[in-house]
Amino acid sequence: MSEARKAVVLLSGGLDSTTILAIARAQGFACHAMSFRYGQRHVVELELARRVAGALGASEHIVVDIDLRQFGGSSLTADVAVPKGRAMAQMEHGIPSTYVPARNTVFLSLALAWAETLGAQDIFIGVNALDYSGYPDCRPEYIQAYERMANLATRAGVQGQQRLSIHTPLIELSKAQIIARGLELGVDYAWTSSCYDPTPEGRPCGQCDSCLLRAKGFAEAGVQDPLLRRFD
Ligand code: ZN
Repeated sequence: MSEARKAVVLLSGGLDSTTILAIARAQGFACHAMSFRYGQRHVVELELARRVAGALGASEHIVVDIDLRQFGGSSLTADVAVPKGRAMAQMEHGIPSTYVPARNTVFLSLALAWAETLGAQDIFIGVNALDYSGYPDCRPEYIQAYERMANLATRAGVQGQQRLSIHTPLIELSKAQIIARGLELGVDYAWTSSCYDPTPEGRPCGQCDSCLLRAKGFAEAGVQDPLLRRFD
C-alpha cells in the first residue's frame, strides 16, 4: 500500500479551517494540522482545533507560538474594541480593525517551512473571498502570488523535486455552501469557534462580524448552528 500524500493544513479551530481539514482528509491526504498561538483574544479556538484535529483524523497537530501582540495593530491582538453589530453592507466596505497585519503571509510562511521539512507538496488554507471581501490576504490573486513565491523560495521548489500547491477549496464559496459541504463530510460544527470576542469559556458574542456571518451562513443553509447547544 502506498503511503498517503502529506499535506499541511492551517487549522484555526474556526468553521472554515475545520471544513478544509475535512476536505483534505476526504481527498486522501495525510494531514499535518498547524495552529498558531499568536496572541489572539479568541485563544479558546486552539482547544477546539486540537479536538477537531483528533476527530477528523489528522496525522498530527502542532501549535506554533508567535506573539503578534508585540506590535499589535489589530483589534484581535491589541487593546482595541472588536466592531459589533455591523450591517452586511458595512462589512463589504474597507478593511476592518480585525484584520491582523500580514497574518496569512506569516502563517503560510511557517506552513511552507513545515511542508518543505515534511516533504509535503500541498498546503490547505481556509481563505474565503466571497462572503467577506475585506481582508486583502484572502483574495485569489494573493494566493496565486504566494504560490509562485513559494516555489521560488524553497530548496524543494528550486531543485524541482516538488511543485508546491496552495489549496483554497473554499475561496469562491458562500458561508452557507461551506457549511453544507462540511455537513456532507460529517463535520460537527458544535466544536468550531468563529467569534472574535468570545467569553473565556468560548461562548460567542453574537455581534461581531464573524458571529453575524456565521449566523447568516447557517440561516441560508437552513440548518441550526449546533454551537450554542454546548452552552445549554
Ligand atoms: Zn462574536
